Amino acid sequence: MSYDVILRNGRVVTGLSPTWISADVGVKDGVIVDVGYLGGKDADTVVDVRGKFVLPGFIDIHNHSDISIIAYPDALNSLMQGVTTVVVGNCGFSAAPVMPKALNDVKAFWGQLSFGVDVDITWSSFSEYLGVLSRVRPSVNVVPLVGHGTIRINVLGFNDLTPSKEELSIMKELVSDAMVSGAYGISAGLIYPPGSYALTDELVELVRVVSRFGGIYSTHIRGESDRLVEAFTEALEVGRHAGVPVEVSHLKAAGRRNWGKVREVVEVLKSYREVGVEVNYDVYPYTAGSTSLISLIPRKFYREGFKALLSRLGDSGFREEVINYVRGGSDWENLLSILGWDDIVISYSNSCKQCEGKTLSKVSGELGVNPYEALFDLIVRDEGKTLMLMHFISEDDLIYVLKQPYALIGSDSFIIPKVGKPHPRFYGTFPRIIKRYVKELGILTLEEAVAKMTSNPAQKLRLHNRGAVAPGFKADLVVIDIKKVDDRSTFDDPHNYPTGVEYVMVNGSISVYEGNYVGNRNGEVVRKITTYAGSK
Ligand SMILES: [Zn+2]
Repeated sequence: MSYDVILRNGRVVTGLSPTWISADVGVKDGVIVDVGYLGGKDADTVVDVRGKFVLPGFIDIHNHSDISIIAYPDALNSLMQGVTTVVVGNCGFSAAPVMPKALNDVKAFWGQLSFGVDVDITWSSFSEYLGVLSRVRPSVNVVPLVGHGTIRINVLGFNDLTPSKEELSIMKELVSDAMVSGAYGISAGLIYPPGSYALTDELVELVRVVSRFGGIYSTHIRGESDRLVEAFTEALEVGRHAGVPVEVSHLKAAGRRNWGKVREVVEVLKSYREVGVEVNYDVYPYTAGSTSLISLIPRKFYREGFKALLSRLGDSGFREEVINYVRGGSDWENLLSILGWDDIVISYSNSCKQCEGKTLSKVSGELGVNPYEALFDLIVRDEGKTLMLMHFISEDDLIYVLKQPYALIGSDSFIIPKVGKPHPRFYGTFPRIIKRYVKELGILTLEEAVAKMTSNPAQKLRLHNRGAVAPGFKADLVVIDIKKVDDRSTFDDPHNYPTGVEYVMVNGSISVYEGNYVGNRNGEVVRKITTYAGSK
């Protein structure tokens, strides 16, 4: 047999074994066909990777490229890290469905995560969206989830309502349609309106739909700071009642006074696993988070819709009301109560380029207004699209969380152009795991780290033929020179690709060769093939 590609003499980390093996890897028609000694065999392309590690391509289980990848299908800030598959539709945000009446609300919802990328929404159903995605032919594979926030907007807009029986059944229908079209599960983002208005029962009802298709429930829980343990427990209860595997997004204890609570959370996780609830979580390897600046505004003020909130935020009486509520409020994820103005850094603003990379205290000084005014002004001028970083996680917690067998790695990033001061996780998540937590601190072995970035997320998603270097698996492969692996993207200077990621292959085709992107886009939209299993 002649192969398309042979990677010769590598140290192969299969993703399935705790120690690497010496082997050649033979690829044909997009699939790994042999892992072993291929000495006498030929191939169109032979690469000698002696001294280097051959790994499965990284699966980014927490990604938000749903829309931006349509504008930037080369997906370089993911691909150059060695990411070969992104899981989109997280935190309740999916790009579909979009019923015509919901178009403006969906656009406003997504504006929060746009980083200035503007894409025309030309689709309506989930399957139409996946069709658009396939036609742009991204460089990485895309695994979709359907977002609860998006589902809710389609039926209830931004209203703070509990759905009627009829409305709930429409929502279920939309979830079911997404699952039939190939979604791998449903996600929720319970700090983001309107998803945050959902009561636990609504979530159970919708997640139950997913259970019939063998999908998962991925959730940005209702609180990651003062109410972390309760919020985490709620997620597991939803999984238990709906009979669905749970993936808790970007686990952390936010705010100094909450540091250490991740230990309690892991105990809760173990107790649910003990009674049969499959729970995992993902984590990014940084002590700062990032989200929209507008998520600092309490959810109760969104009740008349996103647009209405933006116009009212111009009014000084309304601003006073918001400030008073923030100072007293605790029935929501009040990030301002755990953050100082020095902990918040503007990462993207269309209206104030000179604000990017600066703390809110600095910005307010330069603008000559108090920090609250600066915050409101930015939100209004950017129409809710400002993004921020929050320095609020302890590295001790991060290490504790990372070491657990339940931990998977997700970047919580998305494909972006080289603008603003994005969180370095957009460029460096996966190499940073290797550089800091394998090489520098020795928290994980290379093989453990690789499993958390490949075979374990594949297993979580029930992605049966990706995430391992083994015969029959899709040829999504990465070759690294471990001595040279360095994430290079920093808070001050984020737009840098990592070093040490020498080859990246997606579905058998080499996209990164000797560290350079060669223009190949060979990713697929991966649709879940489900046999409807009936009610559980
Ligand atoms: Zn999130």
